[in-house]
Amino acid sequence: MKRKRLNRDGELAPPPTVFMAHSKEDSEGREFFDRLFSGAGVRAYWYPYPEGPTIPHSKGIRRAIKESSAVFVVLSKPMEVHPHIRSWVSFESGIAVGLDRPIWVFERFDEFVDIPVPGAFGYLQRPLTTTQLQTFPFGRIISSAGTRYPPAEGSDVWFHAICRHSDCGERFVAYVLDASIARCPTCRREGTIKIHTWDERAMALLDQPLLKPLPNQPVEDPSSPLIAVNP
Ligand SMILES: [Zn+2]
Repeated sequence: MKRKRLNRDGELAPPPTVFMAHSKEDSEGREFFDRLFSGAGVRAYWYPYPEGPTIPHSKGIRRAIKESSAVFVVLSKPMEVHPHIRSWVSFESGIAVGLDRPIWVFERFDEFVDIPVPGAFGYLQRPLTTTQLQTFPFGRIISSAGTRYPPAEGSDVWFHAICRHSDCGERFVAYVLDASIARCPTCRREGTIKIHTWDERAMALLDQPLLKPLPNQPVEDPSSPLIAVNP
C-alpha cells in the first residue's frame, strides 16, 4: 500500500505539484507528460492561458509557481508563433529563478523551438511517446516533482553541460538524443554545449536536493561540436 503524505498537523498533505509551462495547442506534449505523471503521486499543474483560473495572470502564475516544487517548460512549435506565450515563458522562468524553483526544459528530440529559457537547470530532449512510466531519466525527475535528477547509470546521453558562449555560460544537466539539433536552453545558439563527464563530485550530488552548484570546470575550445562523453 502506498504511504500517504501527512503534514505537520497529521493532515493529509496535498500532492507535490509541478508547474507546467506549455502551449495548449501542443496536445502531443501534454499526452506525453500526462502519461508519465499518472500514478506518480505528483500533480502536473497545466496553467491555461489566456483563460487561466486566476485573473490577473501575473499573480495567479506567481502563486502557482510558489506552490510548486519545480517548473517544467514543455517546448513546442506553437510557442514560437504566439508572442504572448513567449513572454509568459520568460515571466515564469524569472519567477522560478527568484523563488529557487528548478526549471526543466523539455524539447522533442526531432525539433528545435526557438524559445530561450533563462536559468534552466535541466535540458532534456524527449521521445514522442513513452510506453513505460519509469522511462529513463524522466521517471525519477517526475516522481521527485522535479527536485532530484537521476543517476547517470544506464545512459551515456545524460551529462553536465555548460554553454560555450562567453556571454551566456549557463550550466545545466542535459539528456540529449540527437546532438545535431541540441542547443543551450538559455541562449538557443548552435554549437554551444560543452560536456562534463560524470566525475566523483557529480556522483556525490545525485541523491542530494537540487540547487547546488554543478562542478566548476574550465570551458574548452568553443569551436568544437557538441560531443557526449561517456561517464
Ligand atoms: Zn547559452
